[in-house]
Amino acid sequence: MKNFEYQNYIYSRKDENDNTVISVKGVDIGSNKLTIMAGPCVIDSYDATDKIAAKVKDLGASVLRGGAFKPRTSPYSFQGMGTSGLDILHDIGNKHNMPVISEIMSADELDYFIERIDIIQVGARNMQNFDLLKKLGRTNKPILLKRGFANTIEEFLLSAEYIMKEGNKNVILCERGIRTYETFTRNTLDISAVPVLKRLTHLPVVVDPSHASGIYWLVKPLALAAVAAGADGLIIETHINPRESSCDPEQTLTIESFTSLMDELLPVAKAVGRTI
Ligand code: PEP
Ligand code: MN
Repeated sequence: MKNFEYQNYIYSRKDENDNTVISVKGVDIGSNKLTIMAGPCVIDSYDATDKIAAKVKDLGASVLRGGAFKPRTSPYSFQGMGTSGLDILHDIGNKHNMPVISEIMSADELDYFIERIDIIQVGARNMQNFDLLKKLGRTNKPILLKRGFANTIEEFLLSAEYIMKEGNKNVILCERGIRTYETFTRNTLDISAVPVLKRLTHLPVVVDPSHASGIYWLVKPLALAAVAAGADGLIIETHINPRESSCDPEQTLTIESFTSLMDELLPVAKAVGRTI
């Protein structure tokens, strides 16, 4: 038993019925119904994002993802469209009646995000940007906090605590793989983090099999495993033409692969008592 399990943090689960459900524009994250978030890694045009939104919504996704401020390893890679990307995502979310999620990199853009974005994502690289976490904690926006690729579960939960301590209790945790000795996959999906987090905290837990694997054909099996392990939702990079995506094409699903994932997810969800 780890010593942080029974500590009385704001994130701590009190009993088996203590589950936080975060409602955003009619989508209940952390409820019995799985939340599927899908969309491109990065928004690079209105038209492509619009077509992707229509398709993924039709197939059962309820939240539209899309990066506008991208944390790229190389400064020479496409950095995202910035605020104009947020405008596009906002407009398309309204058009298709879907809440939207996008990653914030700096508190400088916080007001812009608050006006246009329904769920603010904190990426793996910013999980311990404590100043940013505190500022997000002073808003009432749902925050999807990704686990840092070199962070423990305890550090992950304490970062959630930074947000909640300031007053914002709307935190969704996202396991997106950690760095290990393995090099075949982009990261190693820490599947045990899902039941561990569900035991320790009442917060919703979603899994990102796209960044966890870095490989399109691994996304479906990892997504199924995540739901079987108790995840409350998934966030999946999807594009009408992944080869045209300016970011992460090799891990991005086509609409056909997303369709097949959703088909195979249904019996797994049922087996663990969830709906989609
Ligand atoms: C993303 O979701 O676009 C992303 C950059 O993910 P991560 O922070 O997990 O690398
Ligand atoms: Mn990506």
